[in-house]
Amino acid sequence: MGSDHPVRIQSMANTPTSNVEASVDQCRRIIHAGADYVRFTVPAMNDAEPLAAIRTAIRKEGLQTPLIADVHFNSDIALKVAGVVEKVRINPGNFAAGGEAFREKLLALIGICRSHGVALRIGVNHGSLSPRIMDRYGDTPEGMAESALEYLRVCREADFDQVVVSMKASNVLVMVAATRLVARMMDTEGMHFPLHLGVTEAGEGEDGRIKSAAGIGTLLLEGLGDTIRVSLTEDPEHEIPVARKLLEVAGRAAEAVPFPESDATGGYVKRPSRSVGIIGGNHPPVVMGADDLSGIALHLVTLSRPEMTEAVIQDLSDDPLAVLVYRCTSGNVQAELRWLRAKLEQQRCIVPVIFQLQVNETTADGFQIVSAASLGGAFIDGFGNGIWLTAAPAIAEEVIRSTAFGILQACRARITRTDYISCPSCGRTNFDLITTTARIREATSHLKGLKIGIMGCIVNGPGEMADADYGYVGAGKGKITLYKGKEVVKRGIPEERAVDELIALIREGGDWKDPA
Ligand code: SF4
Repeated sequence: MGSDHPVRIQSMANTPTSNVEASVDQCRRIIHAGADYVRFTVPAMNDAEPLAAIRTAIRKEGLQTPLIADVHFNSDIALKVAGVVEKVRINPGNFAAGGEAFREKLLALIGICRSHGVALRIGVNHGSLSPRIMDRYGDTPEGMAESALEYLRVCREADFDQVVVSMKASNVLVMVAATRLVARMMDTEGMHFPLHLGVTEAGEGEDGRIKSAAGIGTLLLEGLGDTIRVSLTEDPEHEIPVARKLLEVAGRAAEAVPFPESDATGGYVKRPSRSVGIIGGNHPPVVMGADDLSGIALHLVTLSRPEMTEAVIQDLSDDPLAVLVYRCTSGNVQAELRWLRAKLEQQRCIVPVIFQLQVNETTADGFQIVSAASLGGAFIDGFGNGIWLTAAPAIAEEVIRSTAFGILQACRARITRTDYISCPSCGRTNFDLITTTARIREATSHLKGLKIGIMGCIVNGPGEMADADYGYVGAGKGKITLYKGKEVVKRGIPEERAVDELIALIREGGDWKDPA
C-alpha cells in the first residue's frame, strides 16, 4: 500500500470473531469479491484468540489476504492482536487515557508491530475524538487532524513508518476537509504516510453509495488515498464493487488530459452567483428535470470547455438573465469544474452555473457512483447552482432524478430527504441492522431534513452518530436505547417495540409529520 502501489480495497466482516465458522465464511466471500484486506473488530480480549483461528483457516485455504484487527478502548487488546494479524487499527480518540499517557502505550504497540512486521492504522473518527482534543479544537477537521498528528509524530520519532492514517466522518464535508487537512499538515511536517479513505455510517442502497462516492471519489480524484473502504449497511461483500467502480472513475480521471489551471486543492468557499428566478444567489441548487422552471425569465446558455472564451464569459456577465449550462466533457470532471470556476472567477463572472453530465453507465449503481464521484467535489467546495444528469436508456428517469437529489443531499447543498446515519455493523452489533434500517426508513423517509442515527452498539454508536437528531442504538442483546441529540431518553426497550418507540419520541420532540 502507498507509494506507487495501486489503491487497495478493503472491507470489514460483521460477524463476531467468536463465531469462527461464520467469520471464515464471510471473510472468504469478501476476498472472493475482490478485497485486498479484510478487517475484524476485536472488542474484548477473548475475541483476539478466535481471530488467530480465523487467520489459520483462511491461510489453509491458500488465501493470503492480509487481515486487520480493529481495536477501540483497550490498548492491551492492540498489543495482543499485533502478533496475530497483518495490521492493527487503533482510534486515537480512545486508545489510551488523556494527557501524554498514550505515548508509552503507543511506543509499546509500535515495538510489537515492528517485531512482527505488522502495520498500524491511526484511524481518527469525527464522532470519537478524545476529551483533550475536544476541549482544544471541538469536533472540527482541525481536531481530527491534530488527533492523528500527535500519534504520527510518535511513530516518526520511533522511526516506524509502517503506518496508515484515516479521517472518517459520516458528514462527507467533514471527512473531505479533515483528510485534505491532515495530508497538508503531514506535508508541512515532512511526513508522507499513506491515507485510508472512508465515509462512516454512510447507510445502505442509493444513499450509502452516493455518500461514499462523493466523499471518497472527491479525494481520489485529487490524488489522495492509498486504500479505501466503502461502508454500507449491507452484506460486506456488496462494498467491493462500489469501491472498484470508484477506482475505475479515478483511473479514468488520471488518464484524462490534465487541467494545469485547476491545481487548487479545494476547500469550501461558496461561489457568489447572481440570482435568476430560483437559480443562483442563495437558492439551493436546482435539479433539471425535477424543479419547475417554467415561469422563470431566463436564458439557458449551453457551453462546453472549448467555447468558454473570454468574450463569451463577458456576454454571460452582461446578461442578467443568463444561466450557464456547462456540459462536462472531460474524463476528469472534478478538475474540469475547478478549471471552470477559476476561469469564471478570473473575469468576476457571477453567472449561475448548472452542471450537465452524461453518464454512460448501464446499471443504477454504476450511474449513482460515477455521477456522485464526478460532481461531488464541486458541490462540496461550494460551486454549482444546479445539476442536470443524463443517462443511457437503461437507466430509469426516477433513478436519474433521485441520484441528482442524493448528490446534493450528500454534499449538504440541498436537503430534501431524511438523513440516515447507519453503521455498517460489525462483530459488536446487537441487532439485525439491515432489516431494522429498512423498517425505520419505511416509517420515517418522509421527514425531510431529519437526521436519524441507527447504530449497532452502545460502545461506538453514540459517538459515531454525533450529528444525528434522533438515535436508535443497540444496547445489549435485543435491547435498544433511544437518543434525542446526544441525550439518552429511553433505555432497555425490547427490540420488537423499539421502532414504534422511536416514532413516538420523534412525535414528542415535535419533529413528526404525517406522510403526505
Ligand atoms: S457502531 Fe456499528 S460498526 Fe461501529 S462498532 Fe458499533 S456495531 Fe460496530
